[in-house]
Amino acid sequence: MLPAGTLNGKVAIVTGGGTGLGLAMAREFARLGARLVLTSRKLENLEAAAAEIRAAGSDALAVTCDVRDPDQVARMVDQAVHRWGGVDILVNNAAGNFIVPAERLSVGGWRAVVGIVLDGTFFCTREVGLRMIEEGRGGSILNIVATYAWTGNPGTVHSAAAKAGVLALTRSLAVEWARYGIRVNALAPGPVDTEGAGSRLWASPDERDRLLRSIPVARFGRPEDIACAASYLVSDYASFVNGECLVVDGGQWLSKGMFKYRDEE
Ligand code: NAP
Repeated sequence: MLPAGTLNGKVAIVTGGGTGLGLAMAREFARLGARLVLTSRKLENLEAAAAEIRAAGSDALAVTCDVRDPDQVARMVDQAVHRWGGVDILVNNAAGNFIVPAERLSVGGWRAVVGIVLDGTFFCTREVGLRMIEEGRGGSILNIVATYAWTGNPGTVHSAAAKAGVLALTRSLAVEWARYGIRVNALAPGPVDTEGAGSRLWASPDERDRLLRSIPVARFGRPEDIACAASYLVSDYASFVNGECLVVDGGQWLSKGMFKYRDEE
């Protein structure tokens, strides 16, 4: 864990900040001294998360926004700037995903996932980046991807394609916006048993078991594993880290496709 005070004076927007990994990152940023803007579609989750952060002695604002809608994104960022005077950190964490054979994926399903993950990341990044550039205050943008952005993943072609796009966006902007003091990085979590991911991606005990066996460190990730890595990337400790994708997956993606080399496996 980074020392308290590491993010003192910083304002951070976390999309999807009311649940799962977004909430874990928001909690940790708040513990490190940041003021938070939590945003997604469901106000109830956001209000509960903001109240929890305030009760712990930090400050947080809950703002509803569907990241697929550029007008809602602009209004959300306006509210953040109006309340806190500017934005220093953006975490593009909002996502949707489900397993389906590609030949049965509907146009609506494709558009929903690509809309949240790829369009949503760009809309939020553009709104926040514009203000960072205009105000000359620099900043840090962190995009939450998945290792299948580069390995591909049968059954989630929509999400894999969208995350690959986000990774390309990350690397492009890392170079394009470095002159403004804006760093852009990505973080690829491995399997973390959040309610959202667990219920949609490994709902059955068999599937959970199979997944667990694919992780060399022999456990699922914990939300705090992701929150600590994210805190490092958005903090000044990572001021020379730009355009990088940090994998936090217990070595899972490296074990894909290995030959069987032990009797018990
Ligand atoms: P989660 O709890 O389901 O989080 C998804 C969040 O996105 C929710 O808070 C949801 O809030 C928000 N969201 C969905 N559609 C939205 C929209 N149109 N506009 C704004 N917000 C929207 O799942 P999670 O496991 O924490 O995942 C968080 C991130 O980690 C995602 O980017 C995911 O791809 C990535 N990831 C997770 C795992 C894992 O194992 N958990 C592994 C690899 C990558 P509302 O419903 O209120 O909108």
